[in-house]
Amino acid sequence: MTLLTKSKYLNGLQCHRLLWHANKKLLPEITLSDEHKFSQGYEFEEYVKKLYPDAKDLKGLDFKENLIKTKQLIEQSNTIFEASFMIDDLFVRSDLIIPTKEGWDLYEIKSTSKAKPPHIPDLAFQKHVIEKCGLKINKCFLIYLNKDYVKNGEINSKELAIVEEVTEKVSLINDIEEKSKLFMDVINQDKSPEMHISMYCNKPYDCPLKKNCWATLPENNVLQLTNWRVYWKLLEEGIKDLEDIPQGTKLSEKDKIMIEAVKTNKVQVNKEKARLFLDDLNYPLFHFDFETFDTAVPIFDKSGPYQKMPFQYSLHIEQEDGAIEHKEFLAEGTKDPRFKLLDQMKTDLEGTGDIIVFNKSFEISVMKKLAEDFPEHKDWLEQAINRIVDLADPFRAFDYYNKSQKGSYSIKKVLPAITGKSYSELEINNGSDASMLYFYSHIKPKLENKEEIRKNLLKYCGLDTEGMVWIIKKLKKIN
Ligand code: SF4
Repeated sequence: MTLLTKSKYLNGLQCHRLLWHANKKLLPEITLSDEHKFSQGYEFEEYVKKLYPDAKDLKGLDFKENLIKTKQLIEQSNTIFEASFMIDDLFVRSDLIIPTKEGWDLYEIKSTSKAKPPHIPDLAFQKHVIEKCGLKINKCFLIYLNKDYVKNGEINSKELAIVEEVTEKVSLINDIEEKSKLFMDVINQDKSPEMHISMYCNKPYDCPLKKNCWATLPENNVLQLTNWRVYWKLLEEGIKDLEDIPQGTKLSEKDKIMIEAVKTNKVQVNKEKARLFLDDLNYPLFHFDFETFDTAVPIFDKSGPYQKMPFQYSLHIEQEDGAIEHKEFLAEGTKDPRFKLLDQMKTDLEGTGDIIVFNKSFEISVMKKLAEDFPEHKDWLEQAINRIVDLADPFRAFDYYNKSQKGSYSIKKVLPAITGKSYSELEINNGSDASMLYFYSHIKPKLENKEEIRKNLLKYCGLDTEGMVWIIKKLKKIN
């Protein structure tokens, strides 16, 4: 029997095509990063459970056992974790229900640091199904992470979790019956619904089918433009190719550069601005890059939910005569990597030249947090922050633009565009994989090939900073 579950209902709200594929189990395989996200949710739930020690927990029971046990426990007015409800073709498993004099209170646990819009229809669907099963839902709540929580010793569940009532918002949703019917019709269709690329491909979540659907767009398409209002409007009007944008469309200067690069098939360079950027550099240049991981529930003292924890950096020190020295750090073991990282980083960054990073907001935010958590390192970290220069600036301003960047100024696009070298041959070729592979080989070890992972992490992070050396060299040649 095909059931409409909570997650399928939410898929349906985002896109019928996504719902159809999810129901047929035709979504791409989940990645280590997806697995990490799920495990973060489960971990937070375990801490929330400590707040309700008398509750009955039905986790681990199979589908049928759970439905039977739920009925029994409801008759006895128990507080229940993971109670299941099924009526017709609708099914939900609820994180927490608590009996009250006026009915039952329904709680949804989310490992996010605030209440988010899609959490409301999630609760509304659960409420609808539970009420159809004959229980009255009194109030609805979200339980999420307190972003200001700082671990100091044992995790304090009371301080870690925030409970917010959202009964009113949930009650505003009154089309569940109608939508459920519609979604069941979609599920029962023989063929996949037509593709309708829209802002819902990113909203409320990045659709797992994006790679497939978006691959059908022309190589240089309007979604590469800088203003999402403009590009979604163009797409709605059926205009997909950058070269088909009608005259008179309101475009930014960057968009115009992008279109010119496509039309002329030539790299667009503002030599003067690029030269000004290069002239301002103070040697030696310290090309620097961090890798970090984060967890919903903090693992180490002096850290909070989703705090970026640096575990690795690479540093290429470039003298004005072109001489290069490479330094790097990659934490060992399962302990908090920040202590050793800070000690070595302090020595490695000693000097007066500019610290070159790509997209400075990330490095600066990590350094600021380190300074806050380790005040003994505050002075030199603040000096280091003042030396930071963002190599992404000329690319963010489109002072250099190659159509192969496809509207992006990330180093992953800029490096191949300007130097012809790329990350594609590396075993690890993005920050998210680097973070997961480190985490699951060091902090919560479950991967066996730790030494190989370490080698690949060093190669990956090293390319980020060596790549910056090459980018500057190329920018100089252009001038
Ligand atoms: S990528 Fe967009 S069009 Fe394709 S299934 Fe996802 S939401 Fe629907």
